[in-house]
Amino acid sequence: MEKRYYQKEAETMPLDSLRKLQSEKLVKQVKHVYENVPYYRALMDKKGVKPQDIRGIDDLYKLPFITKSDLRETYPYGMLAVPLRDCVRIQSTSGTTGKRVIAYYTQEDIELWEDCCARAIVAAGGGKEDVVQVCYGYGLFTGGPGLNGGSHKVGSLTLPMSSGNTERQIQFMMDLKSTILCCTPSYAAFIGESLKERGYKPEDNCLKAGIFGAEPWTEEMRRDIEKSLGIKAYDIYGLTETSGPGVAFECEEQSGMHINEDHFIAEIIDPDTGEVLPEGEKGELVFTSLDKKAFPLLRYRTRDICVLSRKPCSCGRTFVKMAKPMGRSDDMLIIRGVNVFPSQIETVLLNEGYTPNYMIEVDRVNNTDTLDVYVELSADKLSDTTEGVSALEKALSSAITTMLGIRPAVHLVPPKSIVRSEGKAVRVVDKRKLHD
Ligand code: ADP
Ligand code: ZN
Repeated sequence: MEKRYYQKEAETMPLDSLRKLQSEKLVKQVKHVYENVPYYRALMDKKGVKPQDIRGIDDLYKLPFITKSDLRETYPYGMLAVPLRDCVRIQSTSGTTGKRVIAYYTQEDIELWEDCCARAIVAAGGGKEDVVQVCYGYGLFTGGPGLNGGSHKVGSLTLPMSSGNTERQIQFMMDLKSTILCCTPSYAAFIGESLKERGYKPEDNCLKAGIFGAEPWTEEMRRDIEKSLGIKAYDIYGLTETSGPGVAFECEEQSGMHINEDHFIAEIIDPDTGEVLPEGEKGELVFTSLDKKAFPLLRYRTRDICVLSRKPCSCGRTFVKMAKPMGRSDDMLIIRGVNVFPSQIETVLLNEGYTPNYMIEVDRVNNTDTLDVYVELSADKLSDTTEGVSALEKALSSAITTMLGIRPAVHLVPPKSIVRSEGKAVRVVDKRKLHD
């Protein structure tokens, strides 16, 4: 099959040219930020770094980090690097972990972002003949506008559905023969479940691919969605602070997401010490945006935990690949001294044949942490005897214990009793925070 790219020259650039390009852009970007963002200038001054100390990417480590709390402190205009009259749009974070952050865009910033999304769509097999159904939320959230713009650039027919109203999603999907579905993985799973309930088989739809992101999802979840919709499911990653989705995207290899390195430099650091880690080590992902003009963050700490790999990819793209993020460092639960990522629990549930409809509840009772996992009984596991159910609960609890090293209390609940997500799923309730 002929390999397809949206911007071939950039996406397949030899590594030495890429580094040279990054270095040139970095030097200019640091100057732009230093001159126009007094807050960051103060951070650099405090660290004793001047723009002339940054001569290329090897000097990147000298720059101070930016954290989410810097963005909250400078809300709403403190990180703006161009006059407001040059901005044409704002977007805002979902506020998953606190106060919303506002990002600004010039027209060129929007173009660049949409190009990144177009790369993702083409990598997933999209082209002019495709019908792209975008059911990420539109509005302040970057998911809808990003993929919408990318789809326009590719020349696909774009269905700006936004999230929710699953009945209408299915009607349009069937009537207009959507070929590419864009939404959160949890919503994709729900759409798959809803199609099945209406009697559709996976081969009844015209979908060939899905571009799913904005929240952590496991390989097991990918397989589940691919089966229920009869598609190939591709991961896409991004965050409002760096523009939105499309910072990284999966190619046909489906083994990690290529980071658009002509626009962003990625580093992995030790979240405790801030030290840069070598390729292949797990740590916190840090981004420097090289081209954004209105809201150009340097060394922004994402809190997303993952691993980078420069292993050559069969797709021909030279951009470094990031593994699926396990979740954010602040998604990590510490339960009885053990680090637990919700995604680990998801892996076990799906491997044991349960659906991705679950809820994790953590609490503290008599000074001991408790972990309760609520999982829906799937129709084929419905057992009419209480002994049957409690045997299943026990088996699942043991499987989770093997994965985590601590034993949860598992509660199997009736099908449909756990709320479905149309956007980013909320799967953890940490009641300990209420007592603090
Ligand atoms: P918020 O930080 O309020 O959720 P955003 O909507 O900008 O705001 O979300 C960006 C975050 O979403 C990322 O930092 C990351 O934690 C998560 N995310 C985005 N895409 C993915 C993905 N493909 N896999 C895992 N997590 C993702
Ligand atoms: Zn690839």
